[in-house]
Amino acid sequence: MTKHYDYMITGAGCAGLSLLMRLLQEPELNNKSILVIDERPKTENDRTWCFWEKQPGLFESIVCHSWQQVNFRSPAFTAKLDLQPYTYKMIRGIDFYNHVIQYAQQFLNVEFRYEKVLALQTANTKAVAQLANEQITADYIFNSIVFEKPVIKKGEFYLLQHFKGWVIETEEPAFDASVATFMDFSVNQKHGTTFMYVMPVLPNKALVEYTLFTGQLLQPDDYEDALKQYIAQNLGISNYTIQHTEFGVIPMTNHVFAQQQGNIVYMGVAGGQAKGSSGYAFQFIQKRTAAIVASLLHNNHPFTRQTCSDKKFHLYDSVLLHVLHQKKINGDKIFADIFKTNKPSTVLKFLDNESSIWEDLKIMNSVDTKIFLRAAFAELFK
Ligand SMILES: Cc1cc2nc3c(=O)[nH]c(=O)nc-3n(C[C@H](O)[C@H](O)[C@H](O)COP(=O)(O)OP(=O)(O)OC[C@H]3O[C@@H](n4cnc5c(N)ncnc54)[C@H](O)[C@@H]3O)c2cc1C
Repeated sequence: MTKHYDYMITGAGCAGLSLLMRLLQEPELNNKSILVIDERPKTENDRTWCFWEKQPGLFESIVCHSWQQVNFRSPAFTAKLDLQPYTYKMIRGIDFYNHVIQYAQQFLNVEFRYEKVLALQTANTKAVAQLANEQITADYIFNSIVFEKPVIKKGEFYLLQHFKGWVIETEEPAFDASVATFMDFSVNQKHGTTFMYVMPVLPNKALVEYTLFTGQLLQPDDYEDALKQYIAQNLGISNYTIQHTEFGVIPMTNHVFAQQQGNIVYMGVAGGQAKGSSGYAFQFIQKRTAAIVASLLHNNHPFTRQTCSDKKFHLYDSVLLHVLHQKKINGDKIFADIFKTNKPSTVLKFLDNESSIWEDLKIMNSVDTKIFLRAAFAELFK
């Protein structure tokens, strides 16, 4: 007999577990049977999330470090930026996975299963997950598995944000743990937009991450060489040990991702929540999963509508991707222009898709308007 659940969460990463945590916060939904499926249990610290927010968020208890000030460095503009009223925060992947899974274990209505999901479909008003030897159904499936790369249509852009990070520990104090480096563009830009993040959590410990926005990945050695060079030459550190390594690739695209298909709801990278122009996804995933839960509570279904604001920010992302793709200006110049002329809080609000039209106009006025206007016309009338 096919097993049936009220809700099935396919993919227990950032989006799947954020949704689970939010569902479990709502007593009204505690009678819903929930199955969470992932191909494997999370046993490793496979990523570190950094993001900014004004208030303590749902995952405040597992924030491992936070900063009120960040450095921005580029040939055109360098400054220490005060982020108030925002705080830049860091959560370790493994702390997040353990936190949500331990919390969920108190609930008898939640089951976990570790098996590969092969495909999803809707049949006879039920959502169906195909496993190797079984089909499981649910009223709704909340999916964050990317089964295949989206088919990019003519006029859509698909860049990669790729990065390698090392958590390094030094013998002597080498960092100011109260200031993170948000973007340091003082590295070679020969591959395209390229920068370093430095997130110090102790005077002798920091995550240093080499990040690029380009069409192709580099060779594995290229990331390591760049990290070694930066740590030696820019940070002036010669004695250190590498405590942890992470590598990631995030799509930077203006592809329009389906939000739902039948009774399947998409979220996370699979739902297009990695912001096209920055790759930041953690907070967009929080907003998306909160909206799904709010809809379940108020409308008795999980479907959300695209707003005019969503369309506006999608256009902005397309324009920036257009400019980066054309390589008329490098990203370091664009970010330097924006940070030089706008309050850091306005820039963060803009990057969060929350700025007003007046704030947007101010930001647009700070970049090379000729190039951006041409790109905006091309995107509007394509
Ligand atoms: C190393 C790294 C660092 C990042 N840092 C940041 C950051 O600092 N700030 C930020 O905002 N964003 C960051 N991101 C981007 C984004 O926040 C993450 O990619 C985030 O994990 C996306 O959440 P998700 O749920 O869409 O995907 P995931 O968290 O990847 O979850 C997808 C889940 O699906 C499972 N799965 C895949 N295929 C199958 C299958 N066939 N069957 C069953 N299960 C399957 C996987 O095991 C995984 O658990 C980072 C990404 C990476 C890779």
